[in-house]
Amino acid sequence: MNPATIERIETRLVDLPTIRPHKLSVATMHGQTLMLVKIYCSDGIVGIGEGTTIAGMAYGPESPEAMKLAIDAYLAPAMVGKDATRIQALMAWLGKLVKVNHFAKCALETALLDAHGKRVGVPVSDLLGGRRRERLPVAWTLASGDTAKDIAEAQTLLDMRRHKVFKLKIGARELETDIRHVAEIKRAVGDQAAVRVDVNMAWSETQAAWAIPALADAGCELVEQPVASAAALARLMRRFPVALMADEILQGPESAFEIAKNEGADVFAIKIEQSGGLFAAQRVAAIADAAGIELYGGTMLEGAVCTIASAHLFASFANLQWGTELFGPLLITEEILTTPLDYSDFELTVPNGPGLGIELDEDKVRRFTRDGLMKVTK
Ligand SMILES: [Mg+2]
Repeated sequence: MNPATIERIETRLVDLPTIRPHKLSVATMHGQTLMLVKIYCSDGIVGIGEGTTIAGMAYGPESPEAMKLAIDAYLAPAMVGKDATRIQALMAWLGKLVKVNHFAKCALETALLDAHGKRVGVPVSDLLGGRRRERLPVAWTLASGDTAKDIAEAQTLLDMRRHKVFKLKIGARELETDIRHVAEIKRAVGDQAAVRVDVNMAWSETQAAWAIPALADAGCELVEQPVASAAALARLMRRFPVALMADEILQGPESAFEIAKNEGADVFAIKIEQSGGLFAAQRVAAIADAAGIELYGGTMLEGAVCTIASAHLFASFANLQWGTELFGPLLITEEILTTPLDYSDFELTVPNGPGLGIELDEDKVRRFTRDGLMKVTK
């Protein structure tokens, strides 16, 4: 049998509104841009992938526009004509041609895995060794920037049985203000919900050393990336009765190994895009497991495609002690799938169909495509 080869690769930018402004220490998001990629194969199979960042370039060096350019100009031309079924070999070869660009590569790897899963009739989780769970706990991020609004939002989500773990985005305001904000929300939700914070690297080491005990007193159970440097995070370890999580400093297996070697985190927030793809994220998880570091399934506030790619991988992890935050599609006002994802009873169901097990609503995607068919003209 002739192997399926890659015939063409299509990319598009899809601009979607969010349900409310999402305030982080680095920026405030008013919408989300997905870079969607389709890989068309010689056997008629089409795989889909997604590259998404948080707040354009405020969070990291890649942007949706840069991913599209990297794929259109460099990665796609190198992939056309290649065997679409030898995914790891192809990704390793692309790694030699194009340095870093983790998010763009993750989008392509996702599309190849989706296509191959459809080809052999199994979910992506099977291609990754098989799922160990069908459903994943999903935390929600409270980031309206207003304590009363956040409390109301938390209560609504608890009543809907959609989320019972809340992550608060802090770090942009005075320490006392942020601590008061966390304490008020924890007091309001009480034992019904867990409260965690993400500082997105905003604090100095001395600020973190002052604030973390106060956060612990307020009932916060986990502090994510309080400081920018790996060395500072390692120095903060074991000093407080809360877990410390690495996110931004975790940029793939090599950084995971360095952090593990330096006993630099209690928990890893694993993200498939930041890791450089699903296989790279799998290696990050293996390093964490070997080092006794606990795992959390992170998000770049991705849309449905990348969220479900992540879900297939996280479902296969041996350990997932801190659950996931795969709520990205819920932050977007528009449904871009023909069948919406199942978020219920505080969890997300991992789809069971071949490949990613999801289908794009092509009309909806076209309508929100930048410079697409629905361009408004006078
Ligand atoms: Mg984070």
